[in-house]
Amino acid sequence: MNTTVNASPGPAPASLYCDQCGEAASEAGHEACARRRELEPPRYCGSCRRRMVVQVTPRGWTAKCVEHGVLTA
Ligand SMILES: [Zn+2]
Ligand SMILES: [Zn+2]
Repeated sequence: MNTTVNASPGPAPASLYCDQCGEAASEAGHEACARRRELEPPRYCGSCRRRMVVQVTPRGWTAKCVEHGVLTA
């Protein structure tokens, strides 16, 4: 049984970049980013590091990468 806390649908590619600060996800020091991620939408696409177009909605947010489509939460 594969249990993940990430509820986003579809296969999620492994993130190469931190979606909060845009640095390589393999680098250390993203603890603050992980905490911020609980509260804030992503700013950078984890796959291509593009800036995402973020819209806050009453139910959460949507973040759109021109290359990889829309994330919601
Ligand atoms: Zn980070
Ligand atoms: Zn992307």
